[in-house]
Amino acid sequence: MGRDDELLYLNGKIMPLAEGTVSVEDRGFQFGDGIYEVIKVMAGRLVYLDDHLERLRRSLGEIALSSAIEGHAFDEVLPDLVAQAGLETGYVYMQVTRGWAPRDYALAVGTDSTVLAYTRPMSYPDAAAILAGVELHAIDDPRWARCNIKSINLLGAVLAKEEARREGADEVVFLGPDQSVREGGSSNLFAVVGGTVRTHPLDRRILAGVTRHHALRLARSLGLPVDETAVDLAELVAAEEAFMTSTGVDVMPVVRIAGRPVGDGRPGPVTLRLADALRADVATHVGMPPPPPLRP
Ligand code: PMP
Repeated sequence: MGRDDELLYLNGKIMPLAEGTVSVEDRGFQFGDGIYEVIKVMAGRLVYLDDHLERLRRSLGEIALSSAIEGHAFDEVLPDLVAQAGLETGYVYMQVTRGWAPRDYALAVGTDSTVLAYTRPMSYPDAAAILAGVELHAIDDPRWARCNIKSINLLGAVLAKEEARREGADEVVFLGPDQSVREGGSSNLFAVVGGTVRTHPLDRRILAGVTRHHALRLARSLGLPVDETAVDLAELVAAEEAFMTSTGVDVMPVVRIAGRPVGDGRPGPVTLRLADALRADVATHVGMPPPPPLRP
């Protein structure tokens, strides 16, 4: 039967997650022809929901699939799903595919898209995990040329993150041919160089992370210098500080890259200020008091 807190919305119907099925000729299954989103749930509320829905619409527009979500009022459906599931802490995974059609590369006309969202309980890194930080494994970016689209084709990231795991690292850093730092396997990456917060600009090489957007907004509001220009791998390793951002980790310090410590190998002050600012922003967003600072 599955768990009560794992509830699925599939093409307009709500059911236990374990009961959901999709056709073997779904274009998502056969071609990876679809888009996804992962939205954090805290205190029973969806965090930055509007930003995620906006990005979903943008990605669907890029693959000529905007019509798929007409008639699905996600701004009401998702909070209802979370409330029905009784989910307090975890996430909602959403996926929209071009749906079922007899196998053909060209886009079939008039297919019914597959639209789904489900709840999953999960805990997020606590203060001790954030203060421990993570290690990155550097790898040439093997992915396609449209990484701004949140495609369900994740094989490049899957194989890269598996290689990182084998090497004892927590995340990858995807490099361009010129050694420029693009992003992580499932995160955006930042360096603090000469006191300036540097990150790759928004273009087709990276995903426009929702957390990236809020981290930059908060950095600017704290008066920190920000520069959306990529660093290269040597600059990242030599940076005063490095960190990554994602829905799953908020702001997470990067303390080692390719076996070498970043700075003194501990989370730096700019990183921790931003981590505190984002944790407070998320808490406020869901109507909770801000957590105690990571470094009082
Ligand atoms: N880049 C990539 C490639 C990702 O997969 C993700 C997470 N889905 C991110 C960045 C971070 O995005 P967000 O902050 O919206 O979770």
